Order: sequence, then structure tokens, then C-alpha cells
Amino acid sequence: MRGREMKNELKNCPFCGGEAYIDRVAASLTDPSSKNHMIICWTCRVSTRWFSDITECVKAWNTRVNEK
Ligand SMILES: [Zn+2]
Repeated sequence: MRGREMKNELKNCPFCGGEAYIDRVAASLTDPSSKNHMIICWTCRVSTRWFSDITECVKAWNTRVNEK
């Protein structure tokens, strides 16, 4: 993996094919158990719900792609 960022594991948006990114809220710095990760499409702004676990968040996004 050589330190690549998690976002490289994201598939493109299932709706517009755009690039997605992971949004993190500042609360993650003080409360790691809060649901503070969301994946959003740069182009059409479709998003997942909030997840506390970034791995689960990525999985949800990639699964949504498969459900297209
Ligand atoms: Zn999109």
C-alpha cells in the first residue's frame, strides 16, 4: 500500500461517474466513536450516511456502486 490514502480505494460515483472523497468532521479529533465519516461525490454531491468507522464508510460507498 505504501501509504496511499484511503480515498484511492473508493470507486467512482454510481450516479455520475465522478470522483468521490471522504469528508471528516472535526469531532473525530475529540470523539473517535462519533459518526464522523461520510463519502461524497465531488460532482453531484451524493453521499453516504455518517459512519464512525472509515472502513465501513468506504465499504458502504463501494457497495452502493455495485447496487447500481
Ligand atoms: Zn456523482
